[in-house]
Amino acid sequence: MPQLRPLRYPALAVATALLLAVGVATVWGLAELRGGVDRLEHSHQVLGALDGALGSLRSAESSARGYRRSGMPSMYAEFREHVPQVQAHAERLAALTADNPPQQQRVLQWQDLVEARVAELTALASGEPGIAGGADQALLEDVRSGGTARVVEQASRIREVEQALLLQRRSLIDQGSVRLTAFVVLGIVVPLIVLGLLLQSLLRENRRSRRLEREARQAAQAMESTLAERDRLTEQQRLLGEYAGLLQSCHSLDEAFVLATGVLRRLLPGAGGRFYTVRASQSLAESAASFGTPLAESAEVLAPADCWALRRGQPHRSDSRHAHVACPHLEAEGGSEGLWSVCVPLGAQGTLVGMLHVNAAEDAGSDNATALVEAVGEQLGLAIVNLQLRETLRQQSLRDPLTGLFNRRYLEESLDRELARCQRKGLPVSVLMLDIDHFKRFNDEHGHPAGDAMLQKVGSILASLTRGGDIACRYGGEEFTVVLPEAGNAQAASRAEQIRAEIGAAVVTHAGKQLGPATASIGVSTFPAHGDTPRALLDHADAALYRAKAQGRNRVVAD
Ligand code: GH3
Ligand code: MG
Ligand code: MG
Repeated sequence: MPQLRPLRYPALAVATALLLAVGVATVWGLAELRGGVDRLEHSHQVLGALDGALGSLRSAESSARGYRRSGMPSMYAEFREHVPQVQAHAERLAALTADNPPQQQRVLQWQDLVEARVAELTALASGEPGIAGGADQALLEDVRSGGTARVVEQASRIREVEQALLLQRRSLIDQGSVRLTAFVVLGIVVPLIVLGLLLQSLLRENRRSRRLEREARQAAQAMESTLAERDRLTEQQRLLGEYAGLLQSCHSLDEAFVLATGVLRRLLPGAGGRFYTVRASQSLAESAASFGTPLAESAEVLAPADCWALRRGQPHRSDSRHAHVACPHLEAEGGSEGLWSVCVPLGAQGTLVGMLHVNAAEDAGSDNATALVEAVGEQLGLAIVNLQLRETLRQQSLRDPLTGLFNRRYLEESLDRELARCQRKGLPVSVLMLDIDHFKRFNDEHGHPAGDAMLQKVGSILASLTRGGDIACRYGGEEFTVVLPEAGNAQAASRAEQIRAEIGAAVVTHAGKQLGPATASIGVSTFPAHGDTPRALLDHADAALYRAKAQGRNRVVAD
């Protein structure tokens, strides 16, 4: 479709000009036609006057002859009446043809003939009625055949010329009216076509602008929703960033789970689920915390076979769109229909430490929601691995590597703490100081590695004989300390005796050789009787140990 828009104003101007031209041409054409009709009418008048003159002349001739034959005065009167009519018609004819000199010339000649004929007739009518013969007879005869015939002959020429003019004028009128009709028709049809095209162009323009307006509105709406979506994603990224930052500073798994719960509640308000931990030694995942209001309950303890994510070591999403099977650990009422669930293994660097499970109604579970759970899980896995690493390092810094017991640094920290606690509660605290007897000799006899094996054995005996709250440490070399919170002196002495007996009975094999039994001496001190500071208690226990050595070794001194 050609583009009419730039031509719109010129086309409108052309259409208007054409209509104006049609108007002007119509007025002009009608005036022309009226002129043509007037000229036609003029020719008719000429012919009418000619016929009138001939008719009156014939009547005059007939009256003149009748009068001469009959002598009736009425005939003469008629003759006298017709003669002026002839003359009047002739004069009128001369006047009517004034616009056409050749024709007027013919009329004037004809008028002369008429005058001559009227004169003859007057002469005839002036004669004696009833007498015929002689000149009159000749006149009568002439009347019959001569004079009028000449008049009629000349009139015929005039008529021919006038009729030719009449035809010419009629043809001019016909041509003019055809031209005018054609011009009017064209002058109306062309502007109508132009106006029609203009209207069509305007309608098309209108449709186009409505379409553009609609498209612009849709684009604005799309832009608005894109911006809202971008704001939402930005807010989610901000929450995730904040969460990742806080996770770095967590001191415990519980803190990490609280943070993860908080962020999941804000990112996925309608969802719920569980955090599981997996211990290295166990193949079971145990629930460590739960959050939100899940649509389906997830089992508290699950084997790897119960969870696709644990089996495959990668996130598992299940909903109707993804045609995945739901994990067996889910207990959904009415099956997994309408349920969106995501399980994300937690861990880092190939270490599996737990699993995050989230579920909700399917309409809440978009790709974005799944990605958010994965992001939360990824950060949480890293944090748990870091926490475990930190705990391992802490444990390592507090433990003696040979025996696995706490080291002296830990002893000093914890003795201080236990002493303060028991002091607050008014409870006793006892300290055992243990030294292996003649250990130098033992080393000399069996070698240093065998001595290490003996130290490990003593370490395991101490570990096995201490309760949950007790603290067994390697104080240094072959000296050990046991802190017994809430234990009085007698209770501590009996525990020391038990330890001493156990060490004395222990058999250690090293490098296929059975090593001789070793003995140990133990000194006991008790708060508040022997001091109220760690140093005082340790010194008192050391002094008791010294006494035990002095009294012959392999014994307990508790006073
Ligand atoms: P006693 O206490 O009965 O008076 O005699 P002792 O021989 O045990 O006395 P001492 O305290 O002089 O000797 C301690 C010995 O313990 C010296 C050292 O070789 C040994 N010892 C200290 N630490 C270790 C260790 O880590 N491994 C081994 N194998 N021996 C150690
Ligand atoms: Mg010693
Ligand atoms: Mg010793």
